[in-house]
Amino acid sequence: MTRALALAFAAIVSTATASAQTAIADLVVRHGTVITVDREHRVISDGAVAVRDGRIVAVGKAAEVGRQFRVREVVDAGGGLILPGLVNAHTHAPMVLFRGLADDRRLMDWLQQYIFPAEKNNVTAEFVRAGTRLAALEMIRSGTTTFVDMYYFEDQVAEACQEAGLRGVLGSTLIEFPAPDNKTIPDALAYAERFLKRWADDPLVVPAVAPHSAYLASPETLRAARALADRYHAPILVHVSESADEQAQVRERYGRTPTEQLQQLGILRRGVLGAHGVWLTASDRKILRETEVGVAHCPQSNMKLASGAAPVREMLADGLRLGLGTDGAASNNDLDMFEEMLTAALLTKHSSGDPTVAPAAAVLEMATLGGARALGMEDRIGSLEPGKRADLVVVGLAEPRLHPIYDPISHLVYVAKGADVRDVVVEGRVVMRDRRVLTLDEKAVVAEADRLRDQVRRSLGR
Ligand SMILES: [Zn+2]
Repeated sequence: MTRALALAFAAIVSTATASAQTAIADLVVRHGTVITVDREHRVISDGAVAVRDGRIVAVGKAAEVGRQFRVREVVDAGGGLILPGLVNAHTHAPMVLFRGLADDRRLMDWLQQYIFPAEKNNVTAEFVRAGTRLAALEMIRSGTTTFVDMYYFEDQVAEACQEAGLRGVLGSTLIEFPAPDNKTIPDALAYAERFLKRWADDPLVVPAVAPHSAYLASPETLRAARALADRYHAPILVHVSESADEQAQVRERYGRTPTEQLQQLGILRRGVLGAHGVWLTASDRKILRETEVGVAHCPQSNMKLASGAAPVREMLADGLRLGLGTDGAASNNDLDMFEEMLTAALLTKHSSGDPTVAPAAAVLEMATLGGARALGMEDRIGSLEPGKRADLVVVGLAEPRLHPIYDPISHLVYVAKGADVRDVVVEGRVVMRDRRVLTLDEKAVVAEADRLRDQVRRSLGR
């Protein structure tokens, strides 16, 4: 071996040794109780999560992770709780601009007298952008890192999602009446296809196809949606069995339940997410389990519109892919997934008469890994495990209300509120630090929302 070669060899060996001892992490979130929601439901006291290139590379004791990595950026959890980012499995984000516009009304009256006219007169691309920004602020500030959206002008939802640094599974709605963005189904399908092409391979936006439901989308539209989703390997988002009215309408028209109708049309398979599922029958649940279709349970919206209580006990027992969603803020009236967890636990116990069902760990799972499974994305998000995308939140424990702590998972479901979320990381990027959102101008976004309220009021002559 020549001297030059020997030197080169020695250099290679020493580099390899150094990198084995101290790998580099872009970010470490440390000194908190890590609630992994992994297969063993591990909870790690004084733990840490290390991140590189947007991915989790280690989860363990803070001291161990500290020895393993040289770190570029640190979030000190200060003894708080470190958990997977919450997955809001069903919402219509821009509808935050209709928050509190009309409450305490029957569904059809609410829709036809208020929501549809307000949408017809106000919803434009810029309105949707402003609404999504406001929704994104609210979601980040309450610990949501992924939201599933179906609305109009979905390009603007996607742009605002990207701007906020959130992860979104976003579908442009196909509905059998003239929508604010597309007046006909062929136009809406063409828009949906452009949307799928534009956002393919985006690290944060997963483009989806969103036929409204079996009652507001025709069989032809539903089949066209399936064909589009197949061509672009996209998820399908759809409303299923939200109200007794919908159930009756679909039965009358097709002689089947909404689930059976979707099954008959060949729509259902893994990657389809049905919102609500309040009126699912035992045979519907069997179909959903066999086709690996997800369900987004939206308890607050269902209670506010008196749609009924979804069969959560049965869905959990059947092992369905069950996530949790807020629905649009016009029927909730906010996007706080902590409230949704509390409500899911309480409503399921109340409606089943059994306090042992929907225990805290199962409800936390619905809001995290369950939502990921409902989307068919459990290999990427939903738990804190090496290899997954780095979406996580820190819940601070400063409030006296959060003490003492016997069981951190119990506290997350029964005591914590969205406002307790301190730091938020999406795809390895810190988007909120110490309750300051780093990606959006909070004051400007809120001022714009207040300005648009005046416009909505005027448009309804109020
Ligand atoms: Zn909905």
